[in-house]
Amino acid sequence: MYELGAANTNELDVQGLTNRLNHRNTVALTGAGISVASGLPLGNEAVNGIPLNALFLFDTWTQRPNQAYDAYRSILSRWRQASPNAAHRVLAAHQIRIITQNIDGLHRDAGSRDVIELHGNLRELVCLTCESVFSSDLALQHSIPSCPTCGKQLFSGFIMEGHPVRHIARAVEWVAAAEYLLVIGTQLAMDPVRRLREIARERGADVFWISDKAEHWLPVLFGETTHS
Ligand SMILES: [Zn+2]
Repeated sequence: MYELGAANTNELDVQGLTNRLNHRNTVALTGAGISVASGLPLGNEAVNGIPLNALFLFDTWTQRPNQAYDAYRSILSRWRQASPNAAHRVLAAHQIRIITQNIDGLHRDAGSRDVIELHGNLRELVCLTCESVFSSDLALQHSIPSCPTCGKQLFSGFIMEGHPVRHIARAVEWVAAAEYLLVIGTQLAMDPVRRLREIARERGADVFWISDKAEHWLPVLFGETTHS
């Protein structure tokens, strides 16, 4: 495993890596750290009186839907102003497959086509009854939007705490086939993402860990700028 940003970075043969990463099967596993440079929050702040953590609880949406949707709208308007940073853009330019824990949609905005959003997407609304997906615009038109198809209350497109992550089987498939795994802006503290890194190791993939400043390190890794 290689850790970028650590003391040993200068001894790493970055130039040699660049050529390999560009032409081999590389998968990036990303978390909140990659979006910090885009101005998105990491911590436990409160929005409209609702702690960010409570917004990920299903009970908040069923018991206090008005409050949940007010907080949702605040976050949405703020996150809609965020744009991809150099880290998102480099991964997109090289069409690296992305497995992300982020719900901000910035990998798609940057132009990445192969993106697995394990925790869903903030900018979508879902109907848990008929499983339809709608644009978050409905939350701007109605205080508590309901499903245009079946009439039930809609919920945010991000997954709620305790609910299973999405598309994990496909994520496992990608990682198992990868020769290089870039772990970016995440500590991989929880399953199943922790398990994805173990799979990469078991299969003999090289794992690169970019704990922070991915907007600096990714352009270096892909040979777009030099490290000084
Ligand atoms: Zn429905």
